[in-house]
Amino acid sequence: MSRDEVIIPGRVEDDASYDDQIRPKRLDDFPGQEPIKDKLRIAIEAAKQRSEPLDHLLLSGPPGLGKTTLARIIANEMGVDIKQSSGPVIERQADLSAILTSLENFDVLFIDEIHRLPTTVEEYLYSAMEDFKIDIMIESGPNARSIELELKKFTLIGATTRAGLLTAPLRSRFGIIHRLDYYNSDDLAIVIKRSAGILKVPIDDDAAYELASRSRGTPRIANRLLRRTRDFADVKGNGTITMEIAQFALDRLEVDQYGLDEMDKRIIQSIIEKFGGGPVGLTNIATAVGEDSGTIEEVYEPFLIREGFITRTPRGRQATDLAYRHFGYPIKPSISSLFGEM
Ligand code: ADP
Repeated sequence: MSRDEVIIPGRVEDDASYDDQIRPKRLDDFPGQEPIKDKLRIAIEAAKQRSEPLDHLLLSGPPGLGKTTLARIIANEMGVDIKQSSGPVIERQADLSAILTSLENFDVLFIDEIHRLPTTVEEYLYSAMEDFKIDIMIESGPNARSIELELKKFTLIGATTRAGLLTAPLRSRFGIIHRLDYYNSDDLAIVIKRSAGILKVPIDDDAAYELASRSRGTPRIANRLLRRTRDFADVKGNGTITMEIAQFALDRLEVDQYGLDEMDKRIIQSIIEKFGGGPVGLTNIATAVGEDSGTIEEVYEPFLIREGFITRTPRGRQATDLAYRHFGYPIKPSISSLFGEM
Protein backbone atom coordinates (compact mmCIF):
# COMPACT_ATOMS: atom_id res chain seq x y z
CA MET A 1 0.00 0.00 0.00
CA SER A 2 1.43 3.39 -0.93
CA ARG A 3 1.79 6.16 1.64
CA ASP A 4 -1.13 8.00 0.01
CA GLU A 5 -3.49 5.10 0.60
CA VAL A 6 -2.77 4.70 4.29
CA ILE A 7 -5.92 5.33 6.24
CA ILE A 8 -5.04 6.57 9.67
CA PRO A 9 -7.57 5.47 12.30
CA GLY A 10 -9.63 8.35 13.63
CA ARG A 11 -8.63 10.59 10.77
CA VAL A 12 -11.55 9.95 8.48
CA GLU A 13 -14.11 12.46 9.54
CA ASP A 14 -16.59 14.75 7.88
CA ASP A 15 -16.76 18.48 8.32
CA ALA A 16 -19.43 18.39 11.01
CA SER A 17 -17.66 15.96 13.29
CA TYR A 18 -14.33 17.76 12.78
CA ASP A 19 -16.10 20.96 13.77
CA ASP A 20 -17.75 19.42 16.82
CA GLN A 21 -14.49 17.96 18.05
CA ILE A 22 -12.62 21.24 18.06
CA ARG A 23 -15.38 23.70 18.92
CA PRO A 24 -14.60 25.25 22.32
CA LYS A 25 -17.20 24.35 24.97
CA ARG A 26 -16.36 26.90 27.70
CA LEU A 27 -15.39 30.55 27.80
CA ASP A 28 -11.96 29.63 29.17
CA ASP A 29 -11.28 27.44 26.12
CA PHE A 30 -12.22 30.18 23.67
CA PRO A 31 -9.11 32.13 22.66
CA GLY A 32 -9.46 35.81 21.67
CA GLN A 33 -12.29 38.35 21.97
CA GLU A 34 -11.18 39.16 25.54
CA PRO A 35 -13.37 42.26 26.11
CA ILE A 36 -16.49 40.37 25.04
CA LYS A 37 -15.64 37.32 27.15
CA ASP A 38 -15.06 39.51 30.23
CA LYS A 39 -18.46 41.15 29.87
CA LEU A 40 -20.18 37.83 29.19
CA ARG A 41 -18.61 36.25 32.28
CA ILE A 42 -20.05 39.00 34.46
CA ALA A 43 -23.47 38.90 32.78
CA ILE A 44 -23.66 35.10 33.16
CA GLU A 45 -22.55 35.21 36.79
CA ALA A 46 -25.07 37.95 37.63
CA ALA A 47 -27.93 36.12 35.90
CA LYS A 48 -27.10 32.93 37.77
CA GLN A 49 -26.90 34.72 41.13
CA ARG A 50 -30.29 36.34 40.56
CA SER A 51 -31.74 33.09 39.19
CA GLU A 52 -32.82 34.90 36.06
CA PRO A 53 -32.31 34.15 32.40
CA LEU A 54 -29.48 35.96 30.69
CA ASP A 55 -30.56 39.14 28.87
CA HIS A 56 -31.26 38.77 25.16
CA LEU A 57 -27.97 39.04 23.36
CA LEU A 58 -27.02 40.17 19.87
CA LEU A 59 -23.72 39.03 18.37
CA SER A 60 -22.65 40.64 15.14
CA GLY A 61 -19.56 40.31 12.98
CA PRO A 62 -18.19 38.67 9.85
CA PRO A 63 -18.67 34.92 9.29
CA GLY A 64 -16.48 32.36 11.03
CA LEU A 65 -15.48 34.48 14.05
CA GLY A 66 -17.31 32.40 16.65
CA LYS A 67 -20.86 33.75 17.05
CA THR A 68 -22.47 30.29 17.01
CA THR A 69 -19.71 28.92 19.19
CA LEU A 70 -20.22 31.66 21.78
CA ALA A 71 -23.98 31.06 21.81
CA ARG A 72 -23.39 27.39 22.58
CA ILE A 73 -20.80 28.26 25.21
CA ILE A 74 -23.23 30.63 26.90
CA ALA A 75 -25.91 27.93 27.09
CA ASN A 76 -23.31 25.56 28.46
CA GLU A 77 -22.08 28.03 31.08
CA MET A 78 -25.68 28.78 32.10
CA GLY A 79 -26.36 25.03 32.31
CA VAL A 80 -29.34 25.21 29.92
CA ASP A 81 -30.35 23.75 26.56
CA ILE A 82 -29.95 25.56 23.27
CA LYS A 83 -32.27 25.43 20.28
CA GLN A 84 -30.82 26.64 17.02
CA SER A 85 -32.52 28.08 13.95
CA SER A 86 -31.89 30.75 11.38
CA GLY A 87 -33.70 33.81 10.01
CA PRO A 88 -34.56 32.56 6.53
CA VAL A 89 -35.72 29.15 7.84
CA ILE A 90 -38.40 30.63 10.12
CA GLU A 91 -40.82 31.54 7.39
CA ARG A 92 -44.09 31.91 9.28
CA GLN A 93 -45.31 32.97 12.71
CA ALA A 94 -46.39 29.37 13.31
CA ASP A 95 -42.79 28.17 12.82
CA LEU A 96 -41.62 30.62 15.45
CA SER A 97 -44.40 29.86 17.92
CA ALA A 98 -43.62 26.13 17.63
CA ILE A 99 -40.02 26.83 18.60
CA LEU A 100 -40.88 29.29 21.35
CA THR A 101 -43.40 27.02 23.05
CA SER A 102 -40.87 24.19 23.13
CA LEU A 103 -38.40 26.18 25.24
CA GLU A 104 -37.87 25.45 28.91
CA ASN A 105 -37.07 28.06 31.56
CA PHE A 106 -33.80 29.94 30.83
CA ASP A 107 -33.17 27.97 27.62
CA VAL A 108 -31.27 29.70 24.84
CA LEU A 109 -32.88 30.22 21.46
CA PHE A 110 -30.16 30.93 18.91
CA ILE A 111 -31.26 32.56 15.65
CA ASP A 112 -28.47 32.86 13.12
CA GLU A 113 -28.70 35.50 10.38
CA ILE A 114 -31.45 37.14 12.40
CA HIS A 115 -31.57 40.13 10.03
CA ARG A 116 -33.18 37.79 7.48
CA LEU A 117 -36.30 37.04 9.54
CA PRO A 118 -39.43 37.90 7.57
CA THR A 119 -41.00 41.12 8.89
CA THR A 120 -44.19 39.46 10.18
CA VAL A 121 -42.14 36.90 12.11
CA GLU A 122 -39.84 39.58 13.47
CA GLU A 123 -42.79 41.59 14.76
CA TYR A 124 -44.20 38.48 16.36
CA LEU A 125 -40.92 38.05 18.21
CA TYR A 126 -41.20 41.44 19.94
CA SER A 127 -43.75 40.47 22.61
CA ALA A 128 -42.01 37.13 23.12
CA MET A 129 -38.75 38.93 23.87
CA GLU A 130 -40.29 41.66 25.97
CA ASP A 131 -43.08 40.02 27.97
CA PHE A 132 -42.51 36.31 27.28
CA LYS A 133 -45.96 36.16 25.75
CA ILE A 134 -47.31 35.43 22.29
CA ASP A 135 -50.72 35.44 20.68
CA ILE A 136 -51.66 32.26 18.91
CA MET A 137 -54.65 31.52 16.72
CA ILE A 138 -56.82 28.62 17.75
CA GLU A 139 -59.51 26.91 15.74
CA SER A 140 -60.24 27.99 12.21
CA GLY A 141 -62.98 29.47 10.07
CA PRO A 142 -65.66 31.50 11.91
CA ASN A 143 -64.51 30.19 15.32
CA ALA A 144 -60.94 31.34 14.84
CA ARG A 145 -59.71 33.51 17.68
CA SER A 146 -56.43 34.39 19.22
CA ILE A 147 -55.41 33.59 22.75
CA GLU A 148 -52.43 34.84 24.71
CA LEU A 149 -49.91 32.21 25.64
CA GLU A 150 -47.37 32.58 28.40
CA LEU A 151 -43.86 31.43 27.45
CA LYS A 152 -41.03 30.19 29.62
CA LYS A 153 -38.39 32.80 30.34
CA PHE A 154 -35.82 32.23 27.63
CA THR A 155 -32.77 34.03 26.28
CA LEU A 156 -32.69 34.94 22.62
CA ILE A 157 -29.22 35.04 21.12
CA GLY A 158 -29.30 36.59 17.66
CA ALA A 159 -26.34 36.47 15.32
CA THR A 160 -25.85 38.60 12.26
CA THR A 161 -23.16 39.34 9.73
CA ARG A 162 -25.09 42.47 8.76
CA ALA A 163 -25.88 44.46 11.89
CA GLY A 164 -26.70 47.44 9.64
CA LEU A 165 -29.75 45.60 8.30
CA LEU A 166 -31.31 45.01 11.70
CA THR A 167 -34.42 47.09 12.33
CA ALA A 168 -34.30 49.57 15.21
CA PRO A 169 -37.21 47.93 17.11
CA LEU A 170 -35.53 44.52 17.05
CA ARG A 171 -32.13 45.91 17.96
CA SER A 172 -33.57 47.84 20.92
CA ARG A 173 -34.97 44.63 22.41
CA PHE A 174 -31.51 43.16 22.99
CA GLY A 175 -30.10 43.91 26.44
CA ILE A 176 -26.53 43.03 25.42
CA ILE A 177 -24.97 43.81 22.05
CA HIS A 178 -21.44 42.75 21.05
CA ARG A 179 -19.55 43.00 17.81
CA LEU A 180 -16.88 40.36 17.21
CA ASP A 181 -13.75 41.61 15.55
CA TYR A 182 -11.17 39.84 13.42
CA TYR A 183 -8.55 37.96 15.49
CA ASN A 184 -4.89 38.85 15.63
CA SER A 185 -2.28 36.25 14.68
CA ASP A 186 -1.29 35.55 18.31
CA ASP A 187 -4.84 34.53 19.19
CA LEU A 188 -5.24 32.51 16.00
CA ALA A 189 -1.98 30.67 16.73
CA ILE A 190 -3.53 29.66 20.07
CA VAL A 191 -6.70 28.51 18.23
CA ILE A 192 -4.56 26.42 15.87
CA LYS A 193 -2.42 24.87 18.62
CA ARG A 194 -5.53 24.08 20.63
CA SER A 195 -7.22 22.37 17.66
CA ALA A 196 -3.99 20.54 16.77
CA GLY A 197 -3.77 19.28 20.37
CA ILE A 198 -7.32 17.90 20.24
CA LEU A 199 -6.66 16.26 16.89
CA LYS A 200 -3.31 14.93 18.15
CA VAL A 201 -1.39 16.56 15.30
CA PRO A 202 2.10 17.69 16.34
CA ILE A 203 2.75 21.25 15.15
CA ASP A 204 5.78 23.50 15.63
CA ASP A 205 5.21 26.97 17.11
CA ASP A 206 6.52 28.85 14.07
CA ALA A 207 4.33 26.73 11.78
CA ALA A 208 1.24 27.50 13.90
CA TYR A 209 2.05 31.19 13.68
CA GLU A 210 2.54 30.98 9.91
CA LEU A 211 -0.87 29.35 9.45
CA ALA A 212 -2.39 31.91 11.83
CA SER A 213 -1.03 34.89 9.95
CA ARG A 214 -2.51 33.61 6.71
CA SER A 215 -5.99 32.87 8.09
CA ARG A 216 -7.64 36.22 7.35
CA GLY A 217 -8.18 36.88 11.07
CA THR A 218 -10.79 34.09 11.12
CA PRO A 219 -10.78 30.95 13.32
CA ARG A 220 -12.89 29.01 10.80
CA ILE A 221 -10.22 29.59 8.15
CA ALA A 222 -7.42 28.83 10.63
CA ASN A 223 -8.98 25.45 11.43
CA ARG A 224 -9.52 24.74 7.75
CA LEU A 225 -5.88 25.51 6.93
CA LEU A 226 -4.78 23.29 9.82
CA ARG A 227 -6.79 20.43 8.41
CA ARG A 228 -5.43 20.87 4.90
CA THR A 229 -1.86 21.24 6.16
CA ARG A 230 -2.24 18.10 8.24
CA ASP A 231 -2.92 16.21 5.00
CA PHE A 232 0.37 17.50 3.58
CA ALA A 233 2.22 16.60 6.80
CA ASP A 234 0.88 13.04 6.57
CA VAL A 235 1.64 12.61 2.91
CA LYS A 236 4.83 14.63 2.44
CA GLY A 237 6.33 14.52 5.91
CA ASN A 238 6.21 12.39 9.03
CA GLY A 239 2.93 13.77 10.37
CA THR A 240 4.39 16.78 12.18
CA ILE A 241 3.45 20.20 10.83
CA THR A 242 6.81 21.96 10.55
CA MET A 243 7.40 25.43 9.11
CA GLU A 244 8.57 23.83 5.89
CA ILE A 245 5.43 21.71 5.57
CA ALA A 246 3.22 24.69 6.46
CA GLN A 247 4.82 26.89 3.80
CA PHE A 248 4.70 24.12 1.23
CA ALA A 249 1.02 23.47 1.94
CA LEU A 250 0.07 27.15 1.92
CA ASP A 251 1.81 27.67 -1.42
CA ARG A 252 0.14 24.64 -2.93
CA LEU A 253 -3.22 25.80 -1.60
CA GLU A 254 -2.49 29.22 -3.12
CA VAL A 255 -3.12 31.00 0.15
CA ASP A 256 -2.06 34.60 -0.11
CA GLN A 257 0.59 35.90 2.33
CA TYR A 258 -2.14 37.84 4.18
CA GLY A 259 -4.84 35.22 3.67
CA LEU A 260 -6.79 37.51 1.34
CA ASP A 261 -9.69 35.82 -0.40
CA GLU A 262 -11.02 36.32 -3.93
CA MET A 263 -13.40 39.14 -3.02
CA ASP A 264 -10.69 40.98 -1.03
CA LYS A 265 -8.47 40.88 -4.09
CA ARG A 266 -11.20 42.05 -6.42
CA ILE A 267 -12.04 44.98 -4.17
CA ILE A 268 -8.44 46.17 -3.93
CA GLN A 269 -7.65 45.59 -7.58
CA SER A 270 -10.75 47.36 -8.78
CA ILE A 271 -9.98 50.42 -6.61
CA ILE A 272 -6.54 50.54 -8.20
CA GLU A 273 -7.36 49.60 -11.78
CA LYS A 274 -10.78 51.12 -12.28
CA PHE A 275 -10.70 54.12 -9.97
CA GLY A 276 -7.06 55.20 -10.10
CA GLY A 277 -6.48 54.08 -6.50
CA GLY A 278 -9.40 56.11 -5.13
CA PRO A 279 -10.85 57.85 -3.31
CA VAL A 280 -13.96 56.10 -4.57
CA GLY A 281 -17.40 55.66 -3.06
CA LEU A 282 -18.63 52.35 -1.73
CA THR A 283 -21.45 52.09 -4.27
CA ASN A 284 -19.02 52.36 -7.17
CA ILE A 285 -16.80 49.64 -5.69
CA ALA A 286 -19.86 47.44 -5.11
CA THR A 287 -20.96 47.79 -8.73
CA ALA A 288 -17.45 47.07 -9.99
CA VAL A 289 -17.06 43.84 -7.99
CA GLY A 290 -20.68 42.71 -8.15
CA GLU A 291 -21.25 42.55 -4.39
CA ASP A 292 -23.74 44.27 -2.14
CA SER A 293 -22.31 47.53 -0.73
CA GLY A 294 -23.44 46.72 2.83
CA THR A 295 -21.64 43.38 2.72
CA ILE A 296 -18.47 45.10 1.54
CA GLU A 297 -18.77 47.62 4.34
CA GLU A 298 -19.52 45.17 7.15
CA VAL A 299 -17.73 41.99 6.09
CA TYR A 300 -14.78 42.76 3.78
CA GLU A 301 -13.73 46.31 4.44
CA PRO A 302 -13.03 46.00 8.20
CA PHE A 303 -10.35 43.37 7.49
CA LEU A 304 -8.80 45.31 4.59
CA ILE A 305 -8.63 48.46 6.69
CA ARG A 306 -7.19 46.59 9.66
CA GLU A 307 -4.47 45.03 7.53
CA GLY A 308 -3.69 48.42 5.96
CA PHE A 309 -4.77 47.76 2.34
CA ILE A 310 -7.35 50.49 2.15
CA THR A 311 -8.20 53.62 4.11
CA ARG A 312 -11.48 55.42 4.56
CA THR A 313 -11.38 59.09 3.71
CA PRO A 314 -14.23 61.60 3.71
CA ARG A 315 -14.31 61.29 -0.09
CA GLY A 316 -14.33 57.48 -0.22
CA ARG A 317 -12.05 54.45 -0.05
CA GLN A 318 -8.43 54.69 -1.06
CA ALA A 319 -5.84 51.98 -1.83
CA THR A 320 -2.66 52.28 0.25
CA ASP A 321 0.97 51.85 -0.80
CA LEU A 322 0.84 48.37 0.71
CA ALA A 323 -2.02 47.47 -1.66
CA TYR A 324 -0.02 48.68 -4.67
CA ARG A 325 3.10 46.81 -3.53
CA HIS A 326 1.31 43.60 -2.62
CA PHE A 327 -0.32 43.31 -6.04
CA GLY A 328 2.78 44.46 -7.92
CA TYR A 329 1.46 47.79 -9.21
CA PRO A 330 3.87 50.72 -9.48
CA ILE A 331 3.19 52.93 -6.47
CA LYS A 332 1.13 55.97 -7.31
CA PRO A 333 2.91 59.05 -5.94
CA SER A 334 0.72 60.69 -3.31
CA ILE A 335 -0.12 64.38 -3.55
CA SER A 336 1.91 65.13 -0.42
CA SER A 337 5.07 63.52 -1.84
CA LEU A 338 4.71 65.49 -5.10
CA PHE A 339 4.46 68.82 -3.32
CA GLY A 340 6.48 67.97 -0.24
CA GLU A 341 4.84 67.56 3.17
CA MET A 342 2.11 70.13 3.67
P1 ADP B 1 -19.87 32.15 13.16
O1 ADP B 1 -21.11 31.68 13.85
O2 ADP B 1 -19.42 33.50 13.65
O3 ADP B 1 -19.93 32.09 11.66
P2 ADP B 1 -18.70 29.74 14.32
O4 ADP B 1 -19.01 29.92 15.75
O5 ADP B 1 -19.54 28.79 13.54
O6 ADP B 1 -18.66 31.17 13.57
O7 ADP B 1 -17.16 29.33 14.22
C1 ADP B 1 -16.59 28.83 13.03
C2 ADP B 1 -15.57 27.78 13.35
O8 ADP B 1 -14.46 28.38 14.00
C3 ADP B 1 -16.05 26.68 14.29
O9 ADP B 1 -15.49 25.47 13.86
C4 ADP B 1 -15.50 27.06 15.65
O10 ADP B 1 -15.18 25.92 16.38
C5 ADP B 1 -14.24 27.82 15.30
N1 ADP B 1 -14.01 28.94 16.23
C6 ADP B 1 -14.62 30.14 16.22
N2 ADP B 1 -14.14 30.94 17.18
C7 ADP B 1 -13.20 30.23 17.82
C8 ADP B 1 -12.32 30.52 18.90
N3 ADP B 1 -12.28 31.71 19.50
N4 ADP B 1 -11.50 29.53 19.30
C9 ADP B 1 -11.48 28.34 18.68
N5 ADP B 1 -12.26 28.01 17.64
C10 ADP B 1 -13.12 28.94 17.22
